[in-house]
Amino acid sequence: MPDQKTAKEGLKFRESVDRMVDHAIEIMNLDDGIGEALKSCASVLQVSFPVEIDGKPEIFTGWRATHSEHRLPSKGGIRFAPVVDQDEVEALAALMTYKCAIVDVPFGGSKGGLVLDPTKYKRHQLEAITRRFARELIGKGFLSPAQNVPAPDMGTGPREMGWIADTYRQLFPDDINCMAAITGKPVEHGGIRGRNEATGRGIQYAVRELFRHPEEVERAGLRGGLDGKRVIVQGLGNVGYHVAHFLTTEDGARVTGVIERDGAVLNPDGLNVDAVRSHIRETGGVKDFPGATFEPDGSAVLEHDCDILIPAALEGVIHENNAPRVKANLIVEGANGPVTYEADSILQDRGIPVMPDAYCNAGGVTVSYFEWLRNLNHVRFGRVEKRFHEARGNQIIRAIEEATDTTVPASLRSQIAKGADEFDLVRSGLDDTMRLAFQEILSARERYEGARDYRMAAFIVAIEKIARSYRDIGY
Ligand code: GLU
Repeated sequence: MPDQKTAKEGLKFRESVDRMVDHAIEIMNLDDGIGEALKSCASVLQVSFPVEIDGKPEIFTGWRATHSEHRLPSKGGIRFAPVVDQDEVEALAALMTYKCAIVDVPFGGSKGGLVLDPTKYKRHQLEAITRRFARELIGKGFLSPAQNVPAPDMGTGPREMGWIADTYRQLFPDDINCMAAITGKPVEHGGIRGRNEATGRGIQYAVRELFRHPEEVERAGLRGGLDGKRVIVQGLGNVGYHVAHFLTTEDGARVTGVIERDGAVLNPDGLNVDAVRSHIRETGGVKDFPGATFEPDGSAVLEHDCDILIPAALEGVIHENNAPRVKANLIVEGANGPVTYEADSILQDRGIPVMPDAYCNAGGVTVSYFEWLRNLNHVRFGRVEKRFHEARGNQIIRAIEEATDTTVPASLRSQIAKGADEFDLVRSGLDDTMRLAFQEILSARERYEGARDYRMAAFIVAIEKIARSYRDIGY
């Protein structure tokens, strides 16, 4: 993951998102002021609080922006990063609004950020900071199961979500739905199986869906399936790792480059993603990873030849300066906002399709939705019906065997008689969500002549749904 933001000179992130929305509204010919309503951020909270670090108070500053409340709760992650500000949090909250609408998750959009480099603090210090931030958010009405439900984002994960959930529970022990105040929790503490890898898994499902449409594959100047396709991934964090792992181990793709903070590693025959990840964990970077070429200028590798480029680290890494040199056939936005507004139109003119963040990284919030439902239902998916379906499957096998006087092969037998568990159901729900959303995006592109690309079509899908809800129930 690169240390620096490379698009600082260009439009601010929030302006970039607003321009995309303006463009979509223009294409849709919406002139009833809905655009202004859509772009405004409903509320933003800024907090500063002291926490004792090594015997001295240190002041931490954070934000939580609620972009929309047409559906409640508002939803979106909390990031801990050394560089984060209100503009970024508002832009990310807006993206959450569109993201939820695209994948039909009935939530508004929100996002939080705390200026903090998690690598600089010990575990107990991080716990104290996280719990204090949670108390600030709860106290100001920016965290509750009904109104605003955070989740992991950059620099946070199940551990932090567990601390936040516990803080909420301690403050509201009478709230029977307290576990639904936050998603992305550890599975042993009210989380759902499959949430941790959900964003990466969702990207895999999105890419698979594109490859089910030969005309879309051709648009990207590619042929055939995912097997053997060359993939470059920027950032081997939770999102980048999982998508790279699944594409290589399940779809036969080759990860020919991994870009990290300290540079990039390259191997045209394909890297072992799990081995690269272990190397990063052990040494702090990709340098000296055996059997690969090291390139100290990681961002230069964004311009290397490959079939699929997946920027899964920071925003603004593909900007107007490097977009003319990008050689990938297809860009898949794993991170939020990795391609700037200016870069987007350059790539469009060059005929390089971009699968937009608001669609393809929506797997995280989709499975967060399932987790929230699980918490409200107080039962894990599949618990009630799993054995029933197994028994029904066995009856079907017996019926087939009796009627045909043959034996059902063991491989089929286990598939027919399998009752779905939580993992299976989460995956199936996510797969269905990603497929349907892609089909809706293609249909919007058909319906609107000006929507040449996936991003515009995806924004149109979102705006149609949000505008409908605004018109029905007011703003
Ligand atoms: N932080 C993730 C995102 O940007 C997940 C949000 C959520 O699950 O609420 O989509």
